[in-house]
Amino acid sequence: MGWCRDVPAHFYVNEFEGFIMILVSSCLLGNKVKYSGGSNDNGLLMRYSRYLTAVCPETAANLPIPRPPAELQHGDGMDVLKGTAKVVNKLGGDVTLHFIQGANKVLDMVKKHRVKVAILKANSPSCGNEMIYDGNFNGNKIAGEGVTAALLRQNGVRVFSEKDLNEDLLQRIIAMYREE
Ligand code: SF4
Repeated sequence: MGWCRDVPAHFYVNEFEGFIMILVSSCLLGNKVKYSGGSNDNGLLMRYSRYLTAVCPETAANLPIPRPPAELQHGDGMDVLKGTAKVVNKLGGDVTLHFIQGANKVLDMVKKHRVKVAILKANSPSCGNEMIYDGNFNGNKIAGEGVTAALLRQNGVRVFSEKDLNEDLLQRIIAMYREE
């Protein structure tokens, strides 16, 4: 209890009971942090929000709200981390360093609080765990991870998306990863 008090303000942290090690994409909990200025409300996750700690790697890296949409080019998040792919926004701006910085801020939190599992927004260039947009801003998706999802998985975090979940699985994740 109380371990979250020194978490930076851009990590929206819920009040909860006990010591929780489950991260969730902030936009899934109704926080208006996505590029458009909106959120990706997920009713199931919002019902269990007291067990979840919200993070948004892009706003953690001081990208503004709203901001131009961004996509990965020449590879996925792992390739970005290796330096062989980049993140470009729809105006042509290179935001690769912001995405890497945001991913590392979430990783700092993972290490500090021994996070074992994260539930991240599907298809996002930061948070997507299986699919991302193909870099042409035409709505096409390809197999691959976002930058934060890749860095967390590389560091031993089990990464789910909201699409992987039903209530039974979420309850089992909470039971497995929650420490009193
Ligand atoms: Fe932030 Fe990830 Fe949601 Fe994008 S998908 S708004 S980076 S939490």
